[in-house]
Amino acid sequence: MTNLDPYKTRADFPILHQDINGKPLVYFDNGASSQKPKVVIDAVSNYYSKSHANVHRGVHTLSQEATNMYEDARRKLKTFVNARFEEEIVFTSGTTQSINLLAFSIGEKYIQKGDEILITEMEHHSNIVPWQMLCERKGATLKVAPIFDNGELNVDAFKQLLSYKTKLAAFIHVSNTLGTVNPVKELINACNANGTKVFIDGAQSAPHLKIDVQDLNCDFYAFSGHKLCGPTGIGIIYGRKDLLEEMPPYQGGGEMIKTVTFEKTTYNELPHKFEAGTPNIAGVIGLGVAIDYINNLGLLNIEKYENELLQYATKQLIENIPEIKIYGNAKHKASLISFLIGNHHPYDVGALLDQMGIAVRTGHHCTEPLMSRYGIPGTIRASFSFYNTKEEIDKMISGLQKALNILS
Ligand code: PMP
Repeated sequence: MTNLDPYKTRADFPILHQDINGKPLVYFDNGASSQKPKVVIDAVSNYYSKSHANVHRGVHTLSQEATNMYEDARRKLKTFVNARFEEEIVFTSGTTQSINLLAFSIGEKYIQKGDEILITEMEHHSNIVPWQMLCERKGATLKVAPIFDNGELNVDAFKQLLSYKTKLAAFIHVSNTLGTVNPVKELINACNANGTKVFIDGAQSAPHLKIDVQDLNCDFYAFSGHKLCGPTGIGIIYGRKDLLEEMPPYQGGGEMIKTVTFEKTTYNELPHKFEAGTPNIAGVIGLGVAIDYINNLGLLNIEKYENELLQYATKQLIENIPEIKIYGNAKHKASLISFLIGNHHPYDVGALLDQMGIAVRTGHHCTEPLMSRYGIPGTIRASFSFYNTKEEIDKMISGLQKALNILS
């Protein structure tokens, strides 16, 4: 048992207290995006009502206030991931932009014809396509480490794929489709020993696990605010300072420059070199408040409680839905379950659950190669957050039983 009371926490989330299709909302699509506590909604609203001005530009009071709030949030993010320096935190629009930034800037600096980039079979499209684009641009090759049927990474195969050609390895901390928590420290150690730079896609880990980039000893780590109770359109990439300093900027424009002439431009210091143009100031401030909110609950409490939900839901599904097949049975899993029931199409099951107010995700979850690996078009995915309850899981089980009666 944990000391996290979901009924108390739920009171902080206005959206959860409504009927959808005439039934109380059961929100199990947290892997796609989490809901927002009132403190975050208020922070964004208050910023626009009272403190809005552009950042880093004005001497006037409002601009300074907005800049202080913006940089204050960066300090919170630095502590959240335990970075060494504030300037190692670069704000982006989310994980996708973080990876595109990295693929461009690391690609320009370190990747040449004949080099290899290593990913895994369980990556999200965001951690596949930018690397493919980079490989095409530079004449490099993308290598893919396989997984086992139970959804765990074949770590030996991953290590065997590391060679003198492997300039970068990019892999998820937690799989959004299988729930697998990868042994990232072991993988990072292998990469470091091989002189391979490492990027970790933390989109699904940041909301559930304590992250310590110094302890992990990775070079880059990214996540999105909207999966972490923060606003949409904001996220970060953490990068080791010496590497960020060496890498060229991703986008050109205001704010990222030191001096501009028509002949030559010099670039601003970190992190501004990577933050061209007017940033998502409200998003950054909202994310800072979301981090406070999560810290207040405690990530260890969150992890413990969500694991209880995962164990309970897995047991209930297996015991009550005989035709169920769960995809992703790794020993170490985060709080989501991907499944199919008999030959029923995931969309049919998902649409019927929606009629009962139960929101789950259906489809390939932006992991088409992974779906091909299992020979299926998609799955139904229920992903849990700390504000979900066992009572809601029971509702999903009886909803699935009703759906199956209708479909058969
Ligand atoms: N990687 C993983 C593992 C994800 O789950 C997601 C979001 N589904 C992303 C990357 C992309 O995140 P965003 O859409 O917030 O940029």
